[in-house]
This record gives sequence, structure tokens and C-alpha cells, in this order.
Amino acid sequence: MTTPPNNIRASRFVAGAGARRIRVSFEFFPPKTAEMESTLWDSINRLAPLAPSFVSVTYGAGGSTRERTHATVKRILAETGLTPAAHLTCVAATRDDIDAVVRAYCEAGVRHIVALRGDPPTGVGEPYAPHPGGYLNAADLVAGIRRSADVEVSVAAYPEKHPDSPSVEADIDMLAAKVDAGATRAMTQFFFENDLYFRYLDRVRARGIAIPIVPGILPVQNFKQARGFAVRCGASVPDWLAERFDGLDDDPATRKLIAAAVAAEQVVDLVDRGVTDFHFYTMNRADLVFAICHLLGLRPDAKREAA
Ligand SMILES: Cc1cc2nc3c(=O)[nH]c(=O)nc-3n(C[C@H](O)[C@H](O)[C@H](O)COP(=O)(O)OP(=O)(O)OC[C@H]3O[C@@H](n4cnc5c(N)ncnc54)[C@H](O)[C@@H]3O)c2cc1C
Repeated sequence: MTTPPNNIRASRFVAGAGARRIRVSFEFFPPKTAEMESTLWDSINRLAPLAPSFVSVTYGAGGSTRERTHATVKRILAETGLTPAAHLTCVAATRDDIDAVVRAYCEAGVRHIVALRGDPPTGVGEPYAPHPGGYLNAADLVAGIRRSADVEVSVAAYPEKHPDSPSVEADIDMLAAKVDAGATRAMTQFFFENDLYFRYLDRVRARGIAIPIVPGILPVQNFKQARGFAVRCGASVPDWLAERFDGLDDDPATRKLIAAAVAAEQVVDLVDRGVTDFHFYTMNRADLVFAICHLLGLRPDAKREAA
């Protein structure tokens, strides 16, 4: 008997002869305090030996973390063998300001930027108005980055459409504009129902968009917080997910086990349906992401561990 029970066919993608190669990337946010910085670096050091394709560092709302994002990316370059990707938004900055940030990244050795419009400084859900003299949206930013630097540019994609989009078609038009401007990869907003991702992928491919659309996976470290994020970014939270975490508010140990099971089920199903690349929203925590990557067949690279 070699088939694992409960539909978890992990043997299909354990690294080895004939196995499909799984690639992962990890997203972190810049820390605000010394304690958060230490948590972040513990997580980076734990996940680094899994040899991610890249690790990305977010750019806080309204450019509020500009310096901290830059410092985190620089430290990743200086202290690890990882390839960093710096997130950058159009918010509250002129084109000149943003071009200067891109040049500074290039001079520091960064070769990958995640280009985003960002949310209004007044808050998610408020109407977005571009900064006077700023980039209009993510497609405009991608074009600006590609004009001023020889870097890889990734962008965001929304399986359940962006809340500002009048329709899925309008949303996919914006993705097409980002690709036409030079984006070569999209990472999706998180989702919990894999069918949403595959339906979206079908529509994106039907529109002639060929770049990788990498699923963004949010391991649910904290259900209430995840539901809050989902409400703000227009992602749906299925009832079955709420039911799984029901009654566990004061039981973090069980919550963690449930979170691992939920994420495992999601990624195993994605792999079974042909997905090989994953972008993990780590929330700067390594444990769940490490466990899920282990399940995906990734093992620490001894050379990176020794580094
Ligand atoms: C992988 C990922 C990483 C992210 N990282 C960050 C980060 O580091 N920092 C941060 O602040 N935010 C981040 N975000 C959130 C993102 O900034 C917000 O979702 C933002 O509201 C939209 O950014 P965008 O780049 O998708 O915008 P765009 O692609 O420019 O637009 C998003 C959607 O809004 C609609 N839209 C845009 N302009 C118009 C218009 N003029 N008229 C009508 N509709 C329009 C389009 O339909 C489009 O699909 C991230 C999101 C994802 C998925």
C-alpha cells in the first residue's frame, strides 16, 4: 500500500526522477519593531534553505514603508543567497520619485520589482485618484519601470476580480495592459476555492495572456485576521472554512493544525490539477509555510543551510 490516504497524493510530487518540479516564492512585509525584525529574520532563515525562486518584500500603504522595504531588501541581498523582489506602488509619489526608487534598487543589485497601483492613502475601498504627476495605475508603472531599468516585473492578478473593477472582463483587460507594458509574471490575490483560480485562468488564457499566473496562497494563521483581509480585498471566504475554525478562538494549537490541513488540501489539489508554482503570503511566519513546502516535496538545500 503506497498511496497515502485521504486523497493526499503527495508521492506524485515528491522531488525525484520524473516528478514535476515545484517552485515557490515567499512574500514578507517589512518589520516595524526590533521584535518583528527578529521574527522576520528567523522566518527568512528557516525558509531560505528551501531555495525559493525569489522572496518578495511588500511596500506599505501610501509608500509608508519605503525606507523599511528598501532596508529589508538590501539586507536580504547582503546576508542571504536569496533573490529579492521589491514591491513598489504608485501611491503618494510622483513619477520622478518612483523612478528614483527604481534606480536605487537597481544600484543595490535588485533585478525584480513587483509593480502595483496600491490602495488610496485614505483607505482600502475609497475611490482611487492618482497622485498629480504620478503613475496612473499598475500598467503605467510597469511601463515606467521597463523604460528606466532592465528588471523583471511581476504584477498582481485577481481570480475574484479587483473590487474596483466593474467586471471580470475589465479586470482581465487591466492584466492584459500590464502584460503589454512588460510584466512577465502575475501573482494572484489569495483565494480558498481552487475552482475560482481555474475559472479565472481559463478566461485569462482565452484573452491571449500567456504569462505565468502564480496562485497566491495564504496559510490561515489567524482566521479572524484572514477574514478581515478577505473583506478588504474582495476575496470570498467559504462557509466551510469558517466552520473549520469555529470554536477555536481560544485554542491556537488546534487552529494551527487546522490551518496546516486546509492549506495542504488546497495546494495538493492545485498540484493534482497541474500547478507547479506557488507564491506564499507568509505573514512573516515560517512554520506553516515550511510544512506545506515539505508536503510539496521541497527539502532544505544543504549548501544553503550551511551558508
Ligand atoms: C500579489 C500582490 C501583492 C501586493 N503587494 C502590495 C504591496 O506591496 N503594497 C500595497 O500597498 N498593496 C499591495 N497589493 C494590493 C494592491 O496594491 C491593491 O490590490 C490595489 O488596490 C490594486 O493594485 P493593482 O496593482 O492590482 O492595480 P491595477 O492593476 O492598476 O488595478 C486593479 C484593478 O482596478 C481596476 N482599475 C484600475 N484603474 C482603473 C480605472 N482607472 N478605471 C476603472 N478600473 C480601474 C482595474 O480593473 C484593475 O483590475 C498587492 C496585491 C497582490 C495581489
